[in-house]
Parts: sequence; structure tokens; C-alpha cells
Amino acid sequence: MKSITIIKPDDWHLHLRDGDLLEAVIFSSSHHFQRALVMPNLSPPITTVKMAEEYKNRICVANRSVLERIRPENINAFASFNPYMTLYLNSEMSSQELKRVSESPDVLAVKFYPAGATTNSTFGVSEFESYYRVFEQMEKLDIVLCVHGESINPEIDVFDREARFIEESFDPMTRRFPNLRVVFEHISTADAVNFVNDQNENVVASVTPQHLAYNRNNLLAGKLRPHKYCAPLLKKEADRSSLVHAVTADSNEKFFLGTDSAPHLIGEKESSCGCAGCFSAPYALAKYAEVFFAEGKLENLENFASLNGAKFYGLPINEEKLKLVQRNNIPKDFFMTEKGEKIVSFVHGETLDWQIVN
Ligand SMILES: [Zn+2]
Repeated sequence: MKSITIIKPDDWHLHLRDGDLLEAVIFSSSHHFQRALVMPNLSPPITTVKMAEEYKNRICVANRSVLERIRPENINAFASFNPYMTLYLNSEMSSQELKRVSESPDVLAVKFYPAGATTNSTFGVSEFESYYRVFEQMEKLDIVLCVHGESINPEIDVFDREARFIEESFDPMTRRFPNLRVVFEHISTADAVNFVNDQNENVVASVTPQHLAYNRNNLLAGKLRPHKYCAPLLKKEADRSSLVHAVTADSNEKFFLGTDSAPHLIGEKESSCGCAGCFSAPYALAKYAEVFFAEGKLENLENFASLNGAKFYGLPINEEKLKLVQRNNIPKDFFMTEKGEKIVSFVHGETLDWQIVN
């Protein structure tokens, strides 16, 4: 049986939601990730360091209360899960708030969403350029900018929106602010891979398991699979394959793990007007391992999952380890909130090749 032991991974792009949903999904992350960067798109969004600290506290409390229920004998193993926070970039963001971000040990980045591009993102502002004043200050204070890079021009085809954003918004911005540290989040195209590789070391990218494991046929051909529907959309095979080459490459330092796990209740996914977002946290590592193994690059999984992101964010490397074995296993049909509402993962209906042992 094939297996691999790696330094315990971190998830540098995670949606944990709040309340009941938070309680239902937190263990799927704290179970096998040491740290995570938690996205701020709650309703209302997290826009101040104070709100972020309160949210962080709710996450840690939820994690502990879930552990007391399901792993009472082993709480400390998973209670060390450390969520880092982000603020939602908006036109009200003041210099004083940015100063507070730079001094906060809990807030690692500011997140840009194009208005309306994803769940609860209607607070963003469409013009990337309108934030140049903020970017200038972030560059000086060395605050990381996380970017959802898709054009929101309704005339642009939805499959072309990432490429268009690079050309119209991202490229001019990185030229103007070469010292601003930027994460191009959940990249989905060969254009994005090329863009990130062409930039200096301050521009990096997070990559999800779904964009590495699936192309758009897996979402749309024959039957519609709503649990694989996410923003940005899955793209062509050539894009998927370019992403795989980038993350598995021997010299890869610019690409790291960010699941973009984004849980929704089943009714919001299996719907005549369904939400974008893959609930990937519980099986993300199994899918990443599958991709690296298929590429003959399992030995590079640790760089991607456990080292590159920590280095970029200037954090120490984790000390614990995590073991994965190659063994067929059936993922759970659904996860459930206290009220009995179901959440279905993105691998629903599949047999997985890899499994975490612990
Ligand atoms: Zn996201």
C-alpha cells in the first residue's frame, strides 16, 4: 500500500461561515489542517480588525465545542487549529484600519472581491483602480492582498472572466505596485498560471482541489453536478493540465494550497438557482494527493500543501505530521447541522483513492 507522510498542511483559503453551519463544518478543517486563512464574506462582511477578532473567537469556540462532543478524549490534538483572518476590502477602509491590520497577529490579509462575483460579494466595488490609494498604503505596510480575479463586466463570457481580469486589472496593478504582496486566489486558467509565473516573487497563487482534479466536462457534460459548481468556474482540460503542471513542478514556490471550501446547505446547491461553492474541506487532501500521484510527483505535495504558503505569509513551518494512504474509500453522503440540514461535499458519488490516517 502506497502512503505518504507530510508536514501537517495549512489551508490558505477557507470559508467557514458562521453559527450552525460553522459548527457543522469546522471539524472538516481542524481535523487535518493546522492553520487556515478564513475569508471575510459573511453577511454583513468582516471589515474591521475588531470584527475579525470576534469572528476568530467564534470559530475557536465552535471548534472546541464540537471537539468536546465528538473527540472528548483527544481535544488537544485538534484544538490547536489556528484560523487567521482577512478583512473585506471596501471603499470605507481607512488608513487607521490598515494600520491596525498591520499590527494584528490574527489578521493576515485584505481580500478584494469584484462586486457580485461570489457569495455575499455585493459589497465590493467594481473598479480595481479605485483601490489604488489603499494598495499604496498596503504596499508600504506590507499587508498581503488576496484577490478574487474575475471581471464582472456582464458582456464578458463567464469562462473568459479570469483572463479578462488579468489583462484589464491585474497586470496594470502589479506594474504599479511591484512590492505589494498579492495572492491570486483559486486560479482556474492557463492564463493565470502564466501571469503568476511571469511576475516577481511578490505575486503567488492559491489553487483548489476542484480546479486541479476536474475540468468543465466533469461539471456539465451529460449531467449537471451542482456540488462541483464553483466560482471561478471549472475550465477546459488544457487549463486544468496547466494548473497541475504548475503546482507539481519541482521548483514550485509560487503556488500553494487553498481549498476555497465553501459550504452551502443542500437546498442552496440543488436548486433552480443554485449557489457557487464547493464544500471541499473534508476530502481536499485526498483529491490533492490523487492529482500529485497521477502526475508522478507525490514527493512535491508537501511543498504545495505545507511549505509554500507558510513561507509566503512569513509564518513558521508546522511541527506535526499527517499521513495519507492510498486506499479506496467512499466519502460520506452528507454532513449535517444541529438542525438536521444537509451539506454535500464536492466528491459526492465518487470513490476516493486516498485517505487520511489519524
Ligand atoms: Zn473563496
